[in-house]
This record gives sequence, C-alpha cells and structure tokens, in this order.
Amino acid sequence: MPELPEVETTRRGIAPHVEGREIVEVIVRQPRLRVPVPGDFSERLVGARIGMLSRRAKYLLLPIEGEGEGEGEGEGAGSLIWHLGMSGSLRIARLGDLPKTHDHIDLVFADGAILRYHDPRRFGFVDWLAGGADCDPRLANLGPEPLSEAFDGERLYRLAQGRRIAVKPFLMDNAVVVGVGNIYASEALFLAGIDPRRAAGRISRERYERLAVAVREVLAAAISQGGTTLRDFVSGTGEPGYFKQRLNVYGRHGQGCRRCNAELRLVTLGQRASVFCPTCQR
Ligand code: ZN
Repeated sequence: MPELPEVETTRRGIAPHVEGREIVEVIVRQPRLRVPVPGDFSERLVGARIGMLSRRAKYLLLPIEGEGEGEGEGEGAGSLIWHLGMSGSLRIARLGDLPKTHDHIDLVFADGAILRYHDPRRFGFVDWLAGGADCDPRLANLGPEPLSEAFDGERLYRLAQGRRIAVKPFLMDNAVVVGVGNIYASEALFLAGIDPRRAAGRISRERYERLAVAVREVLAAAISQGGTTLRDFVSGTGEPGYFKQRLNVYGRHGQGCRRCNAELRLVTLGQRASVFCPTCQR
C-alpha cells in the first residue's frame, strides 16, 4: 500500500511533467473508483492548466488553473484531490503508450505527456476540491505533517495523557500525526525501543521525544531512497517501483532481531499486524 513516502515520491516524480501544462484531453476508462469520478470531470479539466502540486497526508493536491468552460484564464478554480488507496499509482506515459488493464484515467497534456492512473483494487479516487483545502472534511481535521516542525515529542506526550490505547494505533491516528502507516509506525517504535502494546498514556516525555525523532528518520530515509526511483515514473512500461528498504521489524516476525537476535513477535493492535522485538522494545 502506498504510504506517505511513496505519495511524496509520486509528487516529486510527476511534478516536472505536469506543472504548468495544459490538459487537452481526459480519458476515463473506469469511473467506479472508491469515489465515482465526477461526471463533469472532462469538461472542467480540458483547457485548464495544472498548478504547483502539493501533498497533505496521503492526498495529492493538483491545483487547476482556469477551468475549461466558462471561467477565465488563470483563475484559481479549485484542485483535484487524488488518493492512491491500496494499490493506486500515477505515472507519466507518452502518446502512443497503450493503456494496460487497470489504467483507469489519463490526463493528456498539450506536449504529449500523459498522467496515467493505474489502480487494480480501485480503493483510490480522484475528486474535485472546491475552495481551500481547509474547507474539505477529508483534510480539515488532520494532525500535523510528520516532517513539519508542528510534530514533536511534546505533542505526542501531551495528546497521550490519560489515553489507554496502545501506542502503535495512537501513532497511526491521523488526528495525532498524519501519514504514519503500519510499516513506519512499526519501524519507528523499534528504533525508539518502545513496545507497540504499551498504553500511550504510560510513556514518558523523553521516550516520546525519541519516538518523534525515529518517525522523522524512517520517513526521511524512505523518501530519500524513493528519490533514486524517480525515473521510474516516466515509462510506458511497468509501474513506479515502490522502494524496498531494509526493514528491521515490519514483515519479519519469526526472524531474528537485527540488534539482539531474539525472535521477533507478532501481535494484532487496532486490527493491524504488529511485529516487535520483545527484548529491545519495552
Ligand atoms: Zn532485539
């Protein structure tokens, strides 16, 4: 599943090919995504330009400047909000690159580049976002970005007071901090030496400081590794290669801890599989 680093890498990968470009054609082969593709999608987009891409949590935001019909040139018309769901990917294709199965949407640009959306499981979606991002209920109540200054150990400590929820689902709560999915929560808790089952309200400020640093570390490492795969976003064949990093615990239950060689254990927390080292994490 695409997590924050993959979405950020997608943003960086496609931005140079779509920003400032005029959309000349929109092809929707399959409108039944998690949210149905808006019926007026093509009318609103053809003739418009894409502004500067941004990301909020795991949402990609593509500002649309100057709508195709009616609106004047250059007016801030709104944005597309794009979520990759469980299996979605965006890549750049060229005119003549034939779509494959599950290539549901093409935005064709005047220079012949195509932004192509692929999603076998169709849990992703693209929708119209009118007005500012803060007005949209999907974005309004999100916690801070994990790589921003608004996220730190003090915030975790403060929000955890009195909470009995296990620290791992607490860390994965988008109201606490956005974009920390199962892989990165598991890895950060290992780096910080914190047992994922521990009650969030029973962790010291110092340990939360370590956890916040670990969250930043694992996400930043994944994003910088993703940078080496950016060229994969421009190809008619294959999908963007989501990066395989060297993981310490995620997906490794039953194997030896890289630090102490104890057998890594698997528990279920908040309906998610969680792997941890019973020796290194307390
Ligand atoms: Zn260990």
